[in-house]
Amino acid sequence: MPLLEVKDLVVEFPNRRGTLRALDGVSFAIEPGEILGVVGESGAGKSLTGAAIIGLLEPPGRIASGEIWLEGRRIDNLGAKEMRQVRGRHVGAIFQDPLTSLNPLYTVGRQLTETILTHLPMSRAAARQRAIELLADTGIPAPEQRVDHYPHQFSGGMRQRVVIALALAAEPRLIVADEPTTALDVSIQAQIIQLLKSICASRGAAVMLITHDMGVIAETCDRVAVLYAGRVAEIGPVHELINHP
Ligand code: ADP
Ligand code: ADP
Repeated sequence: MPLLEVKDLVVEFPNRRGTLRALDGVSFAIEPGEILGVVGESGAGKSLTGAAIIGLLEPPGRIASGEIWLEGRRIDNLGAKEMRQVRGRHVGAIFQDPLTSLNPLYTVGRQLTETILTHLPMSRAAARQRAIELLADTGIPAPEQRVDHYPHQFSGGMRQRVVIALALAAEPRLIVADEPTTALDVSIQAQIIQLLKSICASRGAAVMLITHDMGVIAETCDRVAVLYAGRVAEIGPVHELINHP
């Protein structure tokens, strides 16, 4: 059974002439442990596909038809509360801007600990220890001290490592990463991508990696889906679809 199955997904927005079909029947699957790259020109529907899976499609955008299945459970038709539970527990999200995912008012340790305690049966002390381990695993130096720091006390690259730690805190089976390195210095983009790849592999988590960077796809992904005008134009092994020197 695939980890994630998206079937004939149609997402619409109201516009002056009636409705705009932003996603026009998107179908694909992600196998456990796989890294699927999603590419396509601006406006092709990459972010909307990710948002629909995470359960963060913003009104007036709506799923008009189609189905999304996660580990054999249908998730496109869940209520808001159930969707939050599924998303928090089973799907981790990483966005372009680390500040989208982090609360500036709380230490990173508190955010990690709360996420862990919301989804996993653990004592507060064990969750804090787990938070420090997650920071260590994502390559944050001196995690015992850093755990008590606020997001603004981290550099951009370190902050995105914290976001990866947070996305993994509930031990999800799937990570949806939407342009996770686009906002970072070029010199650290490759490090973050390698980290994402290795840490997800070591945890058996699958990744849906949305990016416009073909180099990232070539180095990281097993398969790639090419979106065009709200549809999957092509999907297959990276070496068959992308020529990278
Ligand atoms: P990107 O390629 O970075 O996703 P886009 O230009 O496609 O950039 O869109 C950026 C964001 O702007 C989208 O995620 C969406 O929320 C919003 N957006 C895109 N198209 C429209 C539109 N026609 N009307 C309003 N908002 C839009
Ligand atoms: P991509 O991530 O591939 O750049 P998006 O998934 O953000 O593209 O958007 C796909 C299309 O959906 C856009 O080109 C636009 O037509 C439409 N769209 C996205 N967000 C909005 C929005 N908030 N309002 C209206 N249309 C939108």
